[in-house]
Parts: sequence; structure tokens; C-alpha cells
Amino acid sequence: MDQAELQRSGTLTELPSMDQLWMPFTANRQFKASPRLLVSASGMYYRSHDGRQILDGTAGLWCVNAGHGRQEISAAIAYQAQEMDYAPPFQMGHPIQFEAANLLADIAPADLKKVFFTNSGSESVDSALKIALAYHRARGDGTRTLFIGRERGYHGVGFGGISVGGMVANRKVFRGSLLPNVDHLPHTYSAEHQAFSRGIPEWGAHLADDLERIVALHDASNIAAVIVEPVAGSTGVLVPPKGYLERLRAICDKHGILLIFDEVITGYGRLGTPFAAQYFKVTPDIITTAKAVNNAAVPMGAVFVRNGIFDTVVNGSPEGAVELFHGYTYSGHPLAMAAAVAAQKIYKRENLLTRVHDEGISHYWQEALHALSDVRHVKDLRNLGLIGAIELESRPGAVGKRAYEAFVASYARGLLVRYTGDTIALSPPLIIERGQIDQIMSTLRDVLRTLD
Ligand code: PMP
Repeated sequence: MDQAELQRSGTLTELPSMDQLWMPFTANRQFKASPRLLVSASGMYYRSHDGRQILDGTAGLWCVNAGHGRQEISAAIAYQAQEMDYAPPFQMGHPIQFEAANLLADIAPADLKKVFFTNSGSESVDSALKIALAYHRARGDGTRTLFIGRERGYHGVGFGGISVGGMVANRKVFRGSLLPNVDHLPHTYSAEHQAFSRGIPEWGAHLADDLERIVALHDASNIAAVIVEPVAGSTGVLVPPKGYLERLRAICDKHGILLIFDEVITGYGRLGTPFAAQYFKVTPDIITTAKAVNNAAVPMGAVFVRNGIFDTVVNGSPEGAVELFHGYTYSGHPLAMAAAVAAQKIYKRENLLTRVHDEGISHYWQEALHALSDVRHVKDLRNLGLIGAIELESRPGAVGKRAYEAFVASYARGLLVRYTGDTIALSPPLIIERGQIDQIMSTLRDVLRTLD
């Protein structure tokens, strides 16, 4: 067998040299001392380089919503690669990008029916911020340039994203070079009032009122947009308090400020609705997405924009002129579009955008997760849709160490989880069966029992 065949069969006899690759968001030296390599994937499972089956508790990175190895998607990509590998996206089109945009617009909330393609969540965030600025300028409101993000927000790693984001570690080194015109709302988590809430916490809607303070400080005439994740994921799964997003919407409306939902993880069925906007019944002006837009088979992002915003930007320019000086070489890449069309058809046919709700999966998930409340080290449990978090008590002087050990021990027992700080984050593919939910929770129960 050659190396490729070995990889497919899931046993890698010889590890590659690891001297050259600089791995992202990874402790490189630690990883290379005891590497974890994934070599193949199918359905709910990965296979590790040492031939073990690994249950995917994270849908890759919140992105493989229809499960791994979907033939329909890989066939569509292969066909498209043969038919036309690449086409320039500026002043040129190709049919499948319009088909993808139409399918996506079908599931978008309200009048967010204009779709702008990118290659990642970070690019979607940058694009959304720039569209917000372009909109205000086209309306003659060019002083509106300030963005309001949120503490503990994650909006990717571009300079725009880390500036509006509130992850201290991601900002620290770059602090002198962030966007200058940004303020932040407080985050919405309170251990005192919300610990062990099932689903949406009752306490905390008033935290949205801080937006009024920020508006008063900077004056509404200078503020372009507020950007929040409806459910913050990467900073430990923070579910918004009941009524909180409605209040943000109302305050933005009152002051002519755009509201951007970053749905890079909540988009495409994770909460049992196509988007979190539909789950919370709050309509933002712009939605950023990526990841599951095409089941993560090819890098891709998509930004949804209200018709009126598009019209304003487009009509604000003379006929024949380029209206938005923004776009990527790979916007609407044919292979990404082929994957998106195939993935969206699967989501529709298998009801994956609503399954988590319709088939009672989110309820089962919630009960299974909260059954861990008596387990050693568990400080809090949080959940919504098919997202879960287990916050552990930090070991004194070693924040993150215990969750890292849980991650390593889970992997050794055939389960992939994520950790951020001392929180274990869970977000399995939406095709998960009840037995696999049980397997995730019982593995974690065993793992936590073994930790110091
Ligand atoms: N926004 C949110 C809410 C995310 O969770 C992420 C990635 N986890 C991003 C943006 C950035 O996406 P990407 O890594 O594709 O740039």
C-alpha cells in the first residue's frame, strides 16, 4: 500500500517530518512531542493515525454539519474541478455562484437576501464591517465609522475581527495596531446568576442597555454598527440572556446603527433553525457566515445583507461604476460554490437545518449534558441547540490546564472535543444520534473522574 492508501485505511505507519509547518493556534513544540493526526473521516467519526475511531464531538471546528465524507459534495467538487477549475469573480460570473446565492437567500431571514461571498469567517467579518461603512457613506452619513463589539466576542483573526472582538489573548500582541474606532459592550455571562441555566438564561437582558451608555459617549452620529455573536462560541459558549438581543435591536433602531450578527458557528442549523436570527426572532441588518455554508469541504464564507443596504450602496454610485471596492480572488470560487450547492441540497433534503429542534435532539442533548452536574470539577454547564459547554474549576495558577488535559484524555478515549480556557466546548455534526450523545457524555464523565 502507498501512503495515500494507508491514510485511507486509517493506519499511518510513518509520521511525516513536522519540522517545517507552523501550526495555527497550536502549542507547536508540545504538539510535535505527542502529535494527534487525523487521516480520514466518515459520518460522525474521524480515524486517527494510529488507526482508532474518534467520535467527532465538534463537527471539525463547528463546521461539518452534515457529517463527514458526503459523497454528493465530493462528487460535485470533483465534477466542477474538471468542468471549470477557476473563474475570475470581478466583472465576470459563472452560473453556479448565482445558484449558490439563490439557495442561500431562500433560507435567509426576512429581507437579508443579498449574498456576498468570501473564503472564511474572518473575511466575512471584514466584509460586513466594510459594507456597513459603505452603506452609511452612501447615505451621506460618512461620520458613522465607529464599531461596537463585545468583551469575550470572537470575530476571527483579521485586524477588523480582533479589533471588534474581545478575546484578550488574540489582541494582546497586536494591541497597538488595532482599528482605532472601536468600543465594546460588556459580555453577558454571570456565574452568579446564570450557572447551570438550561438553554437561555433568564437573567441579564439589562446588560444590553449598556449600549445606550456607549451611544451617549460617542454620539450616534459617529456609530456605524454593533457586531455580536448571537451565541458566543469560541470564548466558552455564552448564551444570550432572554430578551437581550431584542433590546440590542431596539437600541440600534432608535439610533440608526446597523446590527451585525456573526453567525459563523450558529448558522446552518446549529440551533434548530437555519440561522440564530430565526431562533431568537431578531432580524439583524447583516449576517456573517462561513464554515457549514458548504459543510466545510472547501474554504468559503457568505455574508447576508438586507436588500435596502445593497440598494443604497449600489444606487449611491453612478451607473457603470464599481459600487463596492472590495472582493477576493476566490470570492465565489467554483469548487466552493459546487460544495455549497451540494451541501445546501443535503441540508434541505435531510431537514438538517431544523432537525435539532424538530426531532427533539436539542432537548435530549440538554438533559444528557446537565446530567454531568454532579461530576467532579464541573463548575457550570451551558447549552443551546446542539452546542454545549462544560466549564471546569480552574486549578489554582494553571488556568486552562485541566480542560487541556480533558481534551487530551478524551482523544485517547476516542472522542474529539474542543477547549477554551477551562471550558470544554461541544458542537457535534447535526446528524448525531441519541446513542452518540450518550457516548460523548459518558466518555467525558469518565475522563473528568480521572483528572486531578
Ligand atoms: N466568527 C466567529 C463567530 C467564529 O466562531 C469564527 C471561527 N471560529 C470566525 C468568525 C472566524 O472564522 P475563520 O476561522 O473561518 O476565519
